[in-house]
Amino acid sequence: MLNKKITELLNSQINKEFYSSFLYLDMSNYYYDSSLNGFGNWFAIQTQEEYAHAMLFLQYLQNNGEKVILEAIDKPDKVYANFKDPLVAAFEHELFVSKSINEIYAAAYDLKDFKTMQFLDWFVKEQGEEEKNVDELIKRFELFGTDVRGLYMLDNELASRTFTAPSLVL
Ligand code: MG
Repeated sequence: MLNKKITELLNSQINKEFYSSFLYLDMSNYYYDSSLNGFGNWFAIQTQEEYAHAMLFLQYLQNNGEKVILEAIDKPDKVYANFKDPLVAAFEHELFVSKSINEIYAAAYDLKDFKTMQFLDWFVKEQGEEEKNVDELIKRFELFGTDVRGLYMLDNELASRTFTAPSLVL
């Protein structure tokens, strides 16, 4: 069994990860609608990753005998004015998720819940990578994305991204 506050925070994180998955699917659709299928693919992979994150939090609660409470997922309602907009929004969203995971970590630390801290270690590292990946994509878009040929080549490159399931063992 876990502490009540930790259980609530982890349940809330499941919803945030599912929302992330949903948000990135909306971004993926935006790029597919704009015939940038490589960017569409890149965000479709993000969608799969976020779904996998949600399932890891869910399984952690279940493995510890806690009830999983699924809440409604908010509708992604952002309107994008240009191809850079979703990238910036994705970066800001990852900062929000990192803050949320850090808050759970801080609560686990205060309660000396070492098991949850160890579980969250993978996510702390993963968030660092997510932030770096999106930040790099923004920088590369700024360098190459404003030229149609550069955008075409960048889009082709992003089309090759494939999904790898997280290797985290619970
Ligand atoms: Mg995530």
